[in-house]
Amino acid sequence: MSKESSPQESGYIGKLEKEIASLQEKLRISETNFGFLYDDNPVMHATINPLTGYIVNCNSMLVSNLGHKNKKAILGTHVSKIFTEKSSVKIVTLLDAFLNKGPISSEEVTLKTKKGKRIQAILNSRAIYNKAGIVVKSIFTLVDISEIKKAQRKAKNKKEDLERVNKDLEQFVSICSHDLQEPLATIRFSSDFLMQKFTDELSPKGKEYIGYIHEASGRMAEQIKGLLEHSRIGRDLKITKVDVQEQLEVAKYDLKKRIQETNATIISEKLPKIKGYKVELRLLFQNLLSNALKYAKKQVAPIITIAAKEEEDFWVFSVADNGIGIKQEDIEDLFTIFSRVPTQQKQEGSGVGLAHAEKIVKLHEGVIWVESQFGEGSTFYFKIKK
Ligand code: ADP
Repeated sequence: MSKESSPQESGYIGKLEKEIASLQEKLRISETNFGFLYDDNPVMHATINPLTGYIVNCNSMLVSNLGHKNKKAILGTHVSKIFTEKSSVKIVTLLDAFLNKGPISSEEVTLKTKKGKRIQAILNSRAIYNKAGIVVKSIFTLVDISEIKKAQRKAKNKKEDLERVNKDLEQFVSICSHDLQEPLATIRFSSDFLMQKFTDELSPKGKEYIGYIHEASGRMAEQIKGLLEHSRIGRDLKITKVDVQEQLEVAKYDLKKRIQETNATIISEKLPKIKGYKVELRLLFQNLLSNALKYAKKQVAPIITIAAKEEEDFWVFSVADNGIGIKQEDIEDLFTIFSRVPTQQKQEGSGVGLAHAEKIVKLHEGVIWVESQFGEGSTFYFKIKK
């Protein structure tokens, strides 16, 4: 005889049934959401049985990227089959590790399409556990990075090409300037010899022309020397933590005589320590300081102010003077090698100082520029990473 349930029991069962229905609905929504995420995701997914290594599910992105028409071609195959030989070895090892240690993250692998094309991808894998805490499934997520890799390769090749061309060019400049020094020395020696030995026989015009030869060859020797120095900047460099203040002090010490002669005042605030090339940074300050002393106004003692201010990841250094200043139209070519601005007071120089300065700043991946008021003074700025 069947026993009918009591009103309390049937109420309880009804409540349970409602709860189950609600949970089933939640599960359906969650599965639909997961299905959307899994299937329509722009990245590739494959679900693996970690014990056998077989693919039990995958999304349409993986199917189409591998060049298949439908999932059937992939489901049931061993996961190593969708990778290149080299990557499949890695996958087998990773699956082993996965069983022991859990998730795989950011592994670079290469997929192989039906037609043998390669797709470079980043693999991440998450585990699905059963109630007993045993891994029952592993979901592979594969993000196609072929385009990024292509761009990286292109950039690397370009960089290598550029470095090679630069090296060739520097070698060329170095060899040329080296070889030019010898005939130039002969010209200088011969003109000096002519002047000394035949001074009585030479007409004033003759002496004047020999004087030009002497002067021009002297200038050229200076330029060749500058060119050689310029080509040597950046060779065999070692980045260290540089105390810029210390380098400024050394530069000031080297220019001590000129500072005294010109009665210059140099004001500087405490300068920072940065990652850079020590000797080159000293040379940079030496060039800017020596210019600030050289291009001072007549009868006006130079006042040079050196400062540094932080700008996010950079330090912006400035060297300001109260000198003759530079006209706006002359600023453009200022940092080009051998470029000189004709000034009223004829100053000695070969036009390499600012080219050196720019090369040094560029070595530090920085920028250099000048702001100037003609007749009032100039401020040279350079911005270098901290
Ligand atoms: P050089 O001093 O040998 O001519 P640089 O490359 O150091 O070569 O400078 C290039 C030109 O820039 C100089 O000829 C000069 O006209 C100008 N210049 C550089 N520094 C200053 C300065 N502090 N004030 C005015 N003019 C400057």
